[in-house]
Amino acid sequence: MRALTHTIRPTSKRMVGKILEFIRRHDRFLCSGHIRSDGDALGAQLALNFLLRKMGKRSHVVCDHGAMEELRFLPGADKVGADPSALRPPYTAVFTCDSGSWQRLERISAALDREAITVVNIDHHASNERFGDINWIDSSYSSTGEMIWTLAKASGVKLDRAIAMNCYTAIVTDTGRFSFSNTTIETHLNAAECMRVGVRPADVTRLLFRQKSPGHWKMAACLIRDMKMSEDGRVAWISITPALVREAGFEPAETQDFMDILKSIKGVDVAILFRPQDGRVKVSWRTDPGIDGIALASQWGGGGHPRASGASIEGSMEDVERLVIQQTLDLLRDGGGAA
Ligand code: AMP
Repeated sequence: MRALTHTIRPTSKRMVGKILEFIRRHDRFLCSGHIRSDGDALGAQLALNFLLRKMGKRSHVVCDHGAMEELRFLPGADKVGADPSALRPPYTAVFTCDSGSWQRLERISAALDREAITVVNIDHHASNERFGDINWIDSSYSSTGEMIWTLAKASGVKLDRAIAMNCYTAIVTDTGRFSFSNTTIETHLNAAECMRVGVRPADVTRLLFRQKSPGHWKMAACLIRDMKMSEDGRVAWISITPALVREAGFEPAETQDFMDILKSIKGVDVAILFRPQDGRVKVSWRTDPGIDGIALASQWGGGGHPRASGASIEGSMEDVERLVIQQTLDLLRDGGGAA
């Protein structure tokens, strides 16, 4: 059997070298990520923040909405700032993690003077707008957390459990527990390295996936009951309406479980979730190979990955639902966009 090698890709090697050189020459950093940071975005920011500090730099983490309840177990999560009042300028640079655009930092980017600050953009979204002064964008990584792990390994600092827990959590959440098509041999090897410095997968699984409130599953039951499907059974969708939130007595922050249920139905090629958020309708798509989730989301100003994408759309729930379902059916009829 061929021996497993664990080498860093040439493009990444160049960017990792450039970013480490940048860090060594500067100080006073802000680590941020997209609004309502998920396990990958938050894990990446926290791991990077620990790395920067280990390299002797001043740095802290602020992202719009702060650390979600479900992710508060992450080392460093208790110190995450949640709005612009937590900013402590001046900064030499802002590191943006897992954010496809500058605007997705929402109130954080709005409070910063983009022209006066160096932006180091680290992301694994193919749809990233390359808005940084330094852009390390590589969609071959499972997660931004895996990119930070690669950066940390190359930095020469002694890797520790705090960095590893954050990177491992980022990897686990964005690969759907190593089940999505973005899971590579490298991903498993990197996860194994995290274990070598103290991560225990059973602990992370328990903290991430086995602490759901009864309300979470009551919401799942309501959503399945009210689920809608296209006539051909290829598109299934659910809407977290205010009425359902009242019925379940619960407002979920994380919705991946609900999407997983829809995508587990035989014949469903596209799962869609609608929910009101900040005066708009948040739409999430999960698609099968051959159906381009980015093509769907980008028509509404959103983005993401070919298999998992999202957008925030103006309009009433009913209107957005009708338009998005029609658009999805049109794409399927036209062959799926082939991603
Ligand atoms: P979600 O639907 O929130 O689970 O996100 C699925 C993927 O789409 C993730 O990679 C998100 O970062 C990305 N995404 C979600 N909403 C947006 C948006 N409004 N703009 C750009 N990317 C998004």
